[in-house]
Amino acid sequence: MPAFIPKLIREFCQAASHSFSYNLKRNLYIWFGILWGLPIPLVTILIHIHFLEKAGSQELLLDVVRAPAQWFFLAHPLIFGLIFGILGTIRNEKDGQLNEAIKKLKELSSQDPLTGLKNRRFFVHNFHDECARSLRREESIFLLFLDIDDFKMVNDSYGHHIGDIVLIELGNFLRRECRPYDIPVRWGGEEFLILLRATDENAAVLYTERIRLGIESGISPAISFPITVSIGLAQHEDNDTLDQICERADQALYHAKQKGKNRVVSWNALQGTMQG
Ligand code: GH3
Ligand code: MG
Ligand code: MG
Repeated sequence: MPAFIPKLIREFCQAASHSFSYNLKRNLYIWFGILWGLPIPLVTILIHIHFLEKAGSQELLLDVVRAPAQWFFLAHPLIFGLIFGILGTIRNEKDGQLNEAIKKLKELSSQDPLTGLKNRRFFVHNFHDECARSLRREESIFLLFLDIDDFKMVNDSYGHHIGDIVLIELGNFLRRECRPYDIPVRWGGEEFLILLRATDENAAVLYTERIRLGIESGISPAISFPITVSIGLAQHEDNDTLDQICERADQALYHAKQKGKNRVVSWNALQGTMQG
């Protein structure tokens, strides 16, 4: 349609060619238009009956219908039904576009743009819901804090771009390794987090060790140098806040770094050693 025609008219004409505009079953706006237009012929008929009665006419209703000038008023429910049906299509399309845009925005605001993993904001918002869900299913929740070892050296030796590739490939690796009900997150910088559902501490440690080993063995042919991670593991306890469990996982991670990196340390095991 030519560009000089105002946008509103163009939208109206496009909607008029859409079958939804005439779909009496799905487009409620048509019925709204019909109801809106109904008083016009009724009032027209009543007024005419009033005057024709005074003039002594016998065939009152037929007299009204026979006059072509009245058809315009009688057709008003149809005209309104048609116009409202078309406006309903426009509204429907705008709603669809708006919902699509909201969905996209939600996705963007919950995703890390580099790795495509969920971001910290998403995790903070959803942590308590995830805990409540696990509580209902009587599952245990664990938090894994992963930190790439000596990542600064990767940037310094190979450049920031290669550093980014490492982060992207690690994101892909975690996505592949995580089960659908575990949540991998890019926490920030070269730090990642996984919300893990496991039957007990042993199973969680085994799973975490498998992740660590997988990374050590090579996450992608695109990376020609070794990458290792240190991982701190903490179990969720009743009424734990996110800060509390993060603090424990962070301390476990700190010990993993202190002990020489490229290893898994669990907060529970750490408590055992400290007490023993
Ligand atoms: P450690 O083993 O103790 O964790 O040492 P590290 O070098 O990994 O840790 P450090 O905190 O000293 O350095 C982290 C580096 O990660 C520094 C920063 O430039 C880099 N980094 C953070 N975010 C990004 C990113 O998005 N892309 C790239 N390429 N580098 C990043
Ligand atoms: Mg770090
Ligand atoms: Mg690091």
